Amino acid sequence: MNLFTYSHAKDAATATAAVTRDAHAAFFGGGTTLVDLMQLEVMNPKSLVDVTSLPLSRIENGPHGGLRVGALVRNSELASDERIRRRYPVLSEAILSGASPQIRNMATTAGNLLQRTRCPYFRDLFSACNKREPGSGCAAQAGFTRVHAVLGTSEKCIATFPGDMPVALMALDAAVRTQKSTGNVRSIPLADFYVGYGEDPARETVLEHGELITAVDLPPTGWMARSSYVKVRDRASYEFALASAAVALDISGGTVREARVALGGIATKPWRSLEAEKALAGARAGEPAWRAAADAALADAKPQKDNAFKIELARRVLVRALTTAASREIA
Ligand code: SF4
Repeated sequence: MNLFTYSHAKDAATATAAVTRDAHAAFFGGGTTLVDLMQLEVMNPKSLVDVTSLPLSRIENGPHGGLRVGALVRNSELASDERIRRRYPVLSEAILSGASPQIRNMATTAGNLLQRTRCPYFRDLFSACNKREPGSGCAAQAGFTRVHAVLGTSEKCIATFPGDMPVALMALDAAVRTQKSTGNVRSIPLADFYVGYGEDPARETVLEHGELITAVDLPPTGWMARSSYVKVRDRASYEFALASAAVALDISGGTVREARVALGGIATKPWRSLEAEKALAGARAGEPAWRAAADAALADAKPQKDNAFKIELARRVLVRALTTAASREIA
């Protein structure tokens, strides 16, 4: 057991200052990822700054008619919110497809964005892992790769991003609001929030050390009510995606005017597919268009030795998500 200190921040300024000045400090919210990884000694912060008392637990009207979701809104509350279910069903469905009711009652909006990979070698201190220990190598590349990524991989890391909610948020074009210890606030489009593994698999987002997520902004776009999340996994509950798809469609007179497509379970980050969106824009709504979009989304996929099945699986999942979304009426 590694020793660590624990403090309770009363406001964002105190919290960001405490973490910024200590390179080994971390924010503590729901704790559903962090405590797990501390028990495994994969993450070893020397100091935890509890932010759960900060006033960040509300879902409010956001800019330009959208919604602002506080960083500490629990996953279960967000999934069941009537406004979310009506205006952004893809988000509610994605959250409910993840983890268990007990975990969703604890897990926060901000924490969900920052989930760590479930690559088994990352969680095993006896395996080489560039993400856990930069420069040590990647045991997965010569190991069992069934659950690993087929999109966005690098020579240094092939780990899959494990989340569901961030895949839906990617399809919704959400933005992450943050605050730094300087008091500076920034809004980061989710498309720019996650970084490719590239040279440094340990770096997963553009967040600076000590920068606190305060909210997630959802856009006002009305047609996102026509959206859907489909996830396929090894068992029906409490399991991570082998492949998932989050989609939103703007359909008028039987033609797709605009689309949003994001994939999960197959990529190193929540994977927005601009190729699929381009294939859908202007197409006649229907299965031929859904299949063309799925082919476009997976065109650059590169399988590992044990997971070629994921490419066809992801195509089918995306076709099903598009079929479901297109069948939804907008009130
Ligand atoms: Fe580590 Fe990434 Fe390799 Fe998994 S795939 S062992 S997380 S470097």
